[in-house]
Amino acid sequence: MDRYNKLSTYWKKLFQTRIQKVPLDAGFDCPNRDGLISRNGCIFCTRLGSGTGLGGCGMELRDQYLYWRIRLRKKFKNCAFAAYLQSYSNTYGPLSRLESVLDQLLNLPDLRVLCVGTRPDCIDKDKIEVLAGFPADETWLELGLQSANDKTLNLINRGHTAEDFAGACDMAAGKGLKICAHVIAGLPGEDINDFADTVSFLNRQPVHGIKIHNLYVCAGTTLAEWWQDRLYAPLTLEEYATWAAQAITLIRPDIIIHRTASDPAGAELMAPAWAEKKSMAMNAIDKILEKNNQHQGQNFTKLSQIRHT
Ligand code: SF4
Repeated sequence: MDRYNKLSTYWKKLFQTRIQKVPLDAGFDCPNRDGLISRNGCIFCTRLGSGTGLGGCGMELRDQYLYWRIRLRKKFKNCAFAAYLQSYSNTYGPLSRLESVLDQLLNLPDLRVLCVGTRPDCIDKDKIEVLAGFPADETWLELGLQSANDKTLNLINRGHTAEDFAGACDMAAGKGLKICAHVIAGLPGEDINDFADTVSFLNRQPVHGIKIHNLYVCAGTTLAEWWQDRLYAPLTLEEYATWAAQAITLIRPDIIIHRTASDPAGAELMAPAWAEKKSMAMNAIDKILEKNNQHQGQNFTKLSQIRHT
């Protein structure tokens, strides 16, 4: 029995087949790195900006998709695909840039879903209209929130507020896009209650999905300097599993949980060592839920009443 709404199960039910995500790099930048907001980026951001790097090899978007399609079809015979514009902020820049990127994704074989990762301050009404008009069966807007606490957002140099997130979320959900919010457990200065507050904030937004990430330290980041200077210590595997399991019990029952652990590029990971294998975290979370006979949303009402009446 699944103890929470898994994306794979949701898609299998909806499309009657497995949907595999195809990571794409359209060569976008980010206002938090190119100087518009900041040149430093978020404290955990690596030079790949959460991307796959194939765009960096000069491969066109269609070729990236077809490259992954061949590889994934060897493993999952009859699967269909979700094109995932992942690297950096994929709605940054002029509207025409986004239109041109989406044009390249038209009529790709077996593409059923479009997922677009971006920041809440890089989206507006016109871009949302263009995304909503893309002919996929589902279009997900993957919006980074990370924390609902503005002090934390400031500390990690996000360059936007929780209110920016809420505004973008309302605008996009109102046009039929599905919203997947990204949150991070173990941010500097936060404890398990702060993380629960972020989940509670999301429960009150029109979000359809959540990605739960564990914060890890990568080479070349500001966080790496903090870690080396002993100003920051990542969560242990046990701590992370406890935080994530509690979060799952608090998440609104209708929300689809897209992931419960991060997947860092091995060569860049400095700490914690357990983050190298995301299955370790996923299994540890499942074990806690199993042991305590817990499931998604069982504490949702309680949380809402205690904290927000
Ligand atoms: S918003 Fe994303 S790409 Fe931009 S600095 Fe932060 S982590 Fe990096």
